[in-house]
Amino acid sequence: MGNTVLEQNEIVEKILDLKEKKNAVLLAHYYQRGEIQDIADYVGDSLELAKKAQETDADIIVFAGVKFMAETAKILNPDKKVLHPNPESGCPMADMATMEGVINLKKQHPDAAVVSYVNTNADVKTVSDVTVTSRNAVKVVKALKEDKIIFVPDQFLGSFVAKQVPEKEFILWKGFCPPHFNLSPEQLLPLKEQYPDAKIAVHPECNTETVKIADFVGSTSQIIEYATTCDSENVIIGTEVGLKHMLEKVNPNKNYIFPVNADYCGTVHCCDMKKNTLDKILEVLDKEINEITLPEDVIEKAARPLKRMLEIV
Ligand code: SF4
Repeated sequence: MGNTVLEQNEIVEKILDLKEKKNAVLLAHYYQRGEIQDIADYVGDSLELAKKAQETDADIIVFAGVKFMAETAKILNPDKKVLHPNPESGCPMADMATMEGVINLKKQHPDAAVVSYVNTNADVKTVSDVTVTSRNAVKVVKALKEDKIIFVPDQFLGSFVAKQVPEKEFILWKGFCPPHFNLSPEQLLPLKEQYPDAKIAVHPECNTETVKIADFVGSTSQIIEYATTCDSENVIIGTEVGLKHMLEKVNPNKNYIFPVNADYCGTVHCCDMKKNTLDKILEVLDKEINEITLPEDVIEKAARPLKRMLEIV
C-alpha cells in the first residue's frame, strides 16, 4: 500500500532536511514518479543530468534514475558519494549490450568508431570511443572522422541517426527499449482519429513503424519543447508516461495525450524507472547506503567517451 498524504509529507520533510544537513543534491530523470520530480534539485534528461552531476559542488549525489545514470554521475564525479535509491532499478536495454560483444564487433570492423548511447553499463563505456544521448547523437556522429559507426545498444535510435547521416555506414547492435518498442501505430492512430488536430511526438527509441507516423521525433527535452510550444492544443505523446508531469508543469494549458494502456509495464511505462520511491530516497540518504562503486580503471576508461561527448556538444 502507498503512503498517506500525511506520511508522504513527513517523508518529504525528512528528505529535504537531510539534503541540507549532508550537502546532498537530488537529481531526477523525467521518467521518475511525479512526487520525486517535485522535490528534486534538478530534473532532466540523460545529458542535462550528466552535466549537472559534473557541475555540482554537493558532497552527495542521490540519483533518481536507473543504474547506468547513477553510474554516469559517479564516473564524472569519482570523488563524490553517489547513492542510488534502488539498486534493482536497471535498464533492460543497457543490459542487452555486453563489453565482450562490443570488443568482438570492433575486431571485425577495426576502422569503425564505437558510439555508445549513454544507456549502457559502465563496462561497455570503457570500450567505446564516444557516448551519445538521443538529443545529440546526430551531431556527435557527424563530428567523428570515422565513416563507419558501430552503434550500441539501441537499434532504433541507431537507424534514426543513420537516416540523418547517410554518408556513414552503420553497424547496429540489436538492442531495444522494451517500453518504447512496444508502442505501436495501432495505439496512436485511434487517438489521432479522436483528436484530428493533434500532433504526434515520439521518442527515437520507438520502433521504426511508430517513428514513421510521427510529426516530431526527439529526446525527452526536445519533446517538452515541441509539445508545449507547437500550435496544436492536443499533443499525442509517444514516450514514457512520467513525462506528463513535466509537460503539465511547463504548459498546463495544453492536453497531453498518452496511450490508454501507458499505465502498464511493457507499453510506455518503464517499470524500472518507477522502482525508485520517496521511501527509498529517504532510506539511502539517511543511512548512506547503495553507494555506486566502480574500480578506478573502469572510471578512468568510461570517463573518456563521456568527456569526449561533452566536448563535442
Ligand atoms: S525507458 Fe527504456 S531505455 Fe529508459 S530506462 Fe526504461 S528500459 Fe531503459
